[in-house]
Amino acid sequence: MSDLTGRVRGPLAPSTAVQRPLSIDDVEIHGGPLGRWQRINREASIPLGLAQMEKSGAVPNLRLAAGEGDGSFQGYRFQDSDLYKQLEAVAWEHCRHPEREGAYRAFVAESAALLARAQRPDGYLNAHYQVVKPERIFAELEYSHEMYCAGHLFQAAVAAARAGLGEDLLHVARRFADLLVRRFLVGGDDGIDGHAEVETALVELYRLTGERPYLDLARKLIDNRGKGLIKSTGMGPLYAQDHLPVREADTAVGHAVRQLYLEAGVVDVAVETGDADLLASSVRRWEDLVATKTSITGGHGSRHDGEAFGERYELPPDRAYNESCAAIASIHWNWRLLLATGHGRYADLIERTLYNAFAASTSADGTRFFYVNPLQRRADLFEDAYLGRRREWFACACCPPNIMRLVSSLGHYVATTDDEGVSVHQYVPGVIRAGGVVLDVETGYPWDGQVRFTVRSAPGGEWTLKLRVPAWSSTTTLASEPGTAATGTSGRLTPGPDGYAAIRREWQAGDTVTLGLDLTPRVVRPHRRIDALRGCAAIERGPLVYCFEQIDQDADLDDLALAPGAALRTAERDLPGIGTTVLIEADAVRLPPAPAHGLPYTTGADAAPAAPATLTAVPYYQWDNRDGGVMRVWIPLA
Ligand SMILES: [Zn+2]
Repeated sequence: MSDLTGRVRGPLAPSTAVQRPLSIDDVEIHGGPLGRWQRINREASIPLGLAQMEKSGAVPNLRLAAGEGDGSFQGYRFQDSDLYKQLEAVAWEHCRHPEREGAYRAFVAESAALLARAQRPDGYLNAHYQVVKPERIFAELEYSHEMYCAGHLFQAAVAAARAGLGEDLLHVARRFADLLVRRFLVGGDDGIDGHAEVETALVELYRLTGERPYLDLARKLIDNRGKGLIKSTGMGPLYAQDHLPVREADTAVGHAVRQLYLEAGVVDVAVETGDADLLASSVRRWEDLVATKTSITGGHGSRHDGEAFGERYELPPDRAYNESCAAIASIHWNWRLLLATGHGRYADLIERTLYNAFAASTSADGTRFFYVNPLQRRADLFEDAYLGRRREWFACACCPPNIMRLVSSLGHYVATTDDEGVSVHQYVPGVIRAGGVVLDVETGYPWDGQVRFTVRSAPGGEWTLKLRVPAWSSTTTLASEPGTAATGTSGRLTPGPDGYAAIRREWQAGDTVTLGLDLTPRVVRPHRRIDALRGCAAIERGPLVYCFEQIDQDADLDDLALAPGAALRTAERDLPGIGTTVLIEADAVRLPPAPAHGLPYTTGADAAPAAPATLTAVPYYQWDNRDGGVMRVWIPLA
């Protein structure tokens, strides 16, 4: 197998990895939910985002910084980062379809030219501080977001360069990065940004340019956390992960997106410097996070206060914050751990997060976005900016362009190569090109559990095809034609300790392998220590978490409970506002009407269930596409 790492057109190109990533355009996604998300991202979301770059002030602010406009600064001090994420989304979209994205090339070129004009001679670039308070540049790093914005600039520049959009943006990025190096690495300033992000971006800039000081600065910024250098955010040291040195912290704390972006940087630095202890600390926090602080949807952040992680097992369904950006950051972190270790548990969590916490962030038509992704919506707060319905944009618009850049780069997360062959982590219909291998993939996943791989071409000699067996699939089958040399042969399959089925042989064009995953719907119960979910259950099918929306029920949803041992029935539908879906119907009971007056506590026993009923569930990611009604993922067990 050839080594692809030197020319990866994608967000991540580690110089050493157990699993090596592919370029975005090495994977064609031809349909299924991911194909649909990429289509509406291109047709609806990105055009909407580009229009918002003017409307929201992101671009006009930079004109002010360049001395070219009238008016005053609009928005937050991190407004520049919206443009950077939008640029990255456009760059990866260009990478997928270079032949039809001329407007994207112009947008990147015009933005790079504006940024170059706005950039100070010393390389500094931040519209808020240049326009509003130049005297405070680098003087309030605890909440300034200057390095955070720089990080998003670096990632956009790396994307543009790798996607074939030239190096104008990279030139701007490097001048700013060089300033950071002069001041914070060579110059001895020990400041760190209150919002992690620049660490992972500096490492990627190093990977692209080979400029070692970028990596050294990323490492210093990580090593400086936990020394009390972040003083006056007013939110305490946990908020910005400054409570303990990174190597000593054993659990995720504080602002969820900050913690998760920090983890991406931690893995990047550990991989590039061969720091096994640093990597082990990230894995330790991952294991704790998965076991005690992760929503069933893969969402992270239990508290609105501080957009933060809660304590262990503090996972309220209605007050779950689960910011869309936290889902994205989690996918970034898990992808790094997957490449560094080759273990399928990280691909499992990517899948859970992608199809649930992340996918729910965007409306079916791609024009509305959630900032917060709770597991229950009550009837009272439909108009609330965070607990209400999806919105076109936000005053703090960190999420929408972040969503767009992940969707346009989804091909990067599907498959990898290693010294043995090709590994497939996510199942999408389309084509995978990896190290001389071309695989056609046919599947109706996640609605259908059969995934058929056909080798279209292959290099000579033996190599291994590895297929992830999701932990949720209780009986998995693997059939191959010709039927030789398959692990476990045809029939039921036990994956290896890394979570993958491995088939090693000399492959010929036309050989096929069909993976059969078990999509029997599952009733899932919470850990007994999650007090907020006690007595409830949820329904999953394949990678999808389901939810109940009022619109699908015959009775008040809050009066329904899942029957003991409920039978679950699936039904394919094409629903207005949603499109293709599979509903699940479950046996339920309708509880007697609850008292509407007096204290909601009693010494009396619950009345007996009144009547048999049916509950109907839709995939969580498809909720809030029909009306603004009540929704819940977790339903009481009768
Ligand atoms: Zn966000």
